[in-house]
Amino acid sequence: MESIDWKSLGFGYSKTDYNVRSWFRNGAWGELEVSDSEMLNIHMAATSLHYGQEAFEGLKAFRGKDGKIRVFRMIENAKRMRHSARGIMMAEVPDSLFTEAVKKAVLLNERFVPPYESGASLYIRPLLIGTGAQIGVKPADEYLFMIFVMPVGPYFKEGFKPTDLVIYREYDRAAPLGTGTFKVGGNYAASLVSGHKAHENGFSAVLYLDAKEKKYLDECGPANFFGIKQNKYVTPKSTSILPSITNMSLRQLAKDMGMEVEERPIPAEELAEFDEIGACGTAAVISPIKRVFDADLNKEYIYGNEPGKISVKLYEKLRGIQYGTEEDIHGWTDIIE
Ligand SMILES: *Cc1c(COP(=O)(O)O)cnc(C)c1O
Repeated sequence: MESIDWKSLGFGYSKTDYNVRSWFRNGAWGELEVSDSEMLNIHMAATSLHYGQEAFEGLKAFRGKDGKIRVFRMIENAKRMRHSARGIMMAEVPDSLFTEAVKKAVLLNERFVPPYESGASLYIRPLLIGTGAQIGVKPADEYLFMIFVMPVGPYFKEGFKPTDLVIYREYDRAAPLGTGTFKVGGNYAASLVSGHKAHENGFSAVLYLDAKEKKYLDECGPANFFGIKQNKYVTPKSTSILPSITNMSLRQLAKDMGMEVEERPIPAEELAEFDEIGACGTAAVISPIKRVFDADLNKEYIYGNEPGKISVKLYEKLRGIQYGTEEDIHGWTDIIE
């Protein structure tokens, strides 16, 4: 067996030993199957290929200081995948099948779970796609649910480093009453052009405004937004953002730390009032932001080159729970054995 250089891992695809799969046919989910193939053999008229019947999830497993493998809040990912499935009329994966599949995929690939000291983790990618053939626009009658995994490096290789965001009003990620709350590929397709432009111009991501009024903050491409103002954790309330499990966890940790939590529409100009802001999601937990550039108004909001105190505190607490060095008082982790 080849050895893995945990230090050189980034966030990219790499092959592991096995993936797990279950097919929905004739109205029922089949037994979980184990595969060592990276390929899918599906019908050319599958609805996932033509009409976007596709949803995914992302979560991680961590090797703790105690050597145990912990998965973070997988039941929340299971629920969210059912929410996405309902949103685009796909068969829902029962929570029990979802959690069994996560456990199996992790255990079968245990040798790819990075050691504690590396700061790396095992990324888990559940996928649900319409596989039934359909040429008229309607939901498929067959689906594939699968999970594959891969080791990924720590998001912050050179330390917890703030980056820049940009606001472009000529792009939307999701419509106000569209698919923004579902974790579906279509939202990502819609964000590729603007994301590419942001990267070309030196920004880490686009900070989207609400599509209807272009007045309120929505989220940052693949991550939610939060701001810290005195003793308050403030995060957008919107019908077009993805309910981030990291954000949900940070709201709880902020409350535990005695902070007030507000979920409400945040006008873009309020960016001037925050002491710290960040993007949050599974990949980085918190990605601190040092500057937001509003490209249309040629206006900038500056937060300093070092991550804010509260962001660091929240980040360390959450990472500690994931790696088993902080007490998991809310029961967020499952030990996989
Ligand atoms: C997955 C995702 C997030 C982050 O959610 P987590 O559950 O915290 O990983 C944020 N925004 C979008 C659009 C996403 O797809």
